[in-house]
Amino acid sequence: MTDHEKTGYIFNIQHFSLHDGPGIRTNVFLKGCPLRCRWCCNPESHALLPEAAFDKSKCILCGACSLGAKEPAVRFEHGEKVIDRTALHANGERLALVCPTGAISLYGEQKSVGEILDEAERDAAFYSRGGGGITLSGGEPLFQAEFATAILREAKRRHIRTAIETCGHVPWETLREAAEHLDYVLYDIKSLNSVSHKEQTGVGNEQILENFRLLCEHFPALPKLVRTPVIPEFNEHEALEIKAFAESFPNVTFQALSYHTFGVKKYAMLGKTYTGYIKNTN
Ligand code: SF4
Ligand code: SF4
Repeated sequence: MTDHEKTGYIFNIQHFSLHDGPGIRTNVFLKGCPLRCRWCCNPESHALLPEAAFDKSKCILCGACSLGAKEPAVRFEHGEKVIDRTALHANGERLALVCPTGAISLYGEQKSVGEILDEAERDAAFYSRGGGGITLSGGEPLFQAEFATAILREAKRRHIRTAIETCGHVPWETLREAAEHLDYVLYDIKSLNSVSHKEQTGVGNEQILENFRLLCEHFPALPKLVRTPVIPEFNEHEALEIKAFAESFPNVTFQALSYHTFGVKKYAMLGKTYTGYIKNTN
């Protein structure tokens, strides 16, 4: 199978992005992530396969989601619209098709490398200004290592500049192979303390920090931007220390990202619980 034909799962392609690498970029969001950061604003990225979601604010209780059964997947209970999650998981794709309001939707679809790059190439006229190109994001793009690397290789064949946003929690060989086809890396370092890193993201930081060192050692000419989401009650006190650590390596710049809760609604839509920090406004 050629790179062009390889397929994987994505949940969005965002055009004309200005914040994910140099210039104007096309961001491709791949499904799957090995971390579970408490504050994550993309819970729809976590699972590898497409996931159905229910937005009760869009539901008009029309009953179209019965799929021939006696009852629709949504019922009205104690003044609330409640979806049968088992039916939603089993038949998400079909339910999303029959729902007339978009209350039921599917996060994720299978696409080929060729389809993704054909779409990205429509933005190619804008790439020349400021060194733009394609950025792989997620989720963790290297969770689908073969697919992600095939996109990068094919992009280079088409003379498109490439970047990746990675959490770094992948085998070194995977990162090394991807780096061969990259022009820019956005590398997340969330904490230098492995205990609190594990508490907040589900994994320790050893592999992440080691991969960062190896990336700097083996690819010194590759520009890297270390990004730290500054999370209250987690790493606020560490931001300057992380900046100093990152900038002790050559060709590395640092950016602190402010905390937000834009993704909270998506947790409820997916039937998940948000466990991140919520500012108490009382
Ligand atoms: S088809 Fe959509 S709008 Fe109609 S009841 Fe089901 S979820 Fe609600
Ligand atoms: S690494 Fe990124 S996508 Fe994965 S859980 Fe953390 S914030 Fe979410």
